[in-house]
Amino acid sequence: MAPVAILPPLIAHPSPNHGPRRGAAPIDTLILHYTGMRNRDEALARLCDPSAEVSAHYVIDEDGTVFQLVDEERRAWHAGLSFWQGERDLNSRSIGIELVNPGHEHGYRRFPPVQMQALIALVGPMLRRRAIPPSRILGHSDVAPWRKQDPGELFDWQALAASGIGLWPQETHEDNAVLDSQQALALLCRIGYEPPPPAMELEAAYRGLVLAFQRHWVPSSLGRGLDAATNAALCGLARCG
Ligand SMILES: [Zn+2]
Repeated sequence: MAPVAILPPLIAHPSPNHGPRRGAAPIDTLILHYTGMRNRDEALARLCDPSAEVSAHYVIDEDGTVFQLVDEERRAWHAGLSFWQGERDLNSRSIGIELVNPGHEHGYRRFPPVQMQALIALVGPMLRRRAIPPSRILGHSDVAPWRKQDPGELFDWQALAASGIGLWPQETHEDNAVLDSQQALALLCRIGYEPPPPAMELEAAYRGLVLAFQRHWVPSSLGRGLDAATNAALCGLARCG
């Protein structure tokens, strides 16, 4: 059984970078990020810098300290150009959480257990308060697959799902179809990924979507294309939805 995660007090660290949520959609999406900066203080400074025009609702340090930057009712600026299940303005319907991690540019590393526990402690009560379905608990790379890699393949989505947060593919079944790339693309889009825009070369777009899918749901296959494990995870996840 997973240990009970207790949320340490939130530290208020207000950012001016937010606005009103647009449209009538409820807050039904959670988007996880890594900060991708050398350290926590640089990340907090950037997320509070008006000229940077970026923010998140929460930042979780590697020691488990949780900072609140933006009130949950306000629209924080974390997803940018994004898409999931037909929607483009994910900032208006999501809560954004940044995990302190140097990211692929500055020495990507695992997310410490204490940081994961703080995340679980923060998100658990949030899910009881809000109607956020498991299929809308996502990484930045899921909603911006050709632009973003975070929180990346070292983030333990499986452990998160074991704590009741997010989707994880069912056990693999013998009856999985062997997908060709067109079928795989159709399944990726059914799960929620953005269909390749006409201006993008289809093969490159497809490769990007498979990589985004692998970072979240089958990290051991990252970069291996549509291998057996990716095929199975794709079929398994499509059955979850
Ligand atoms: Zn991000």
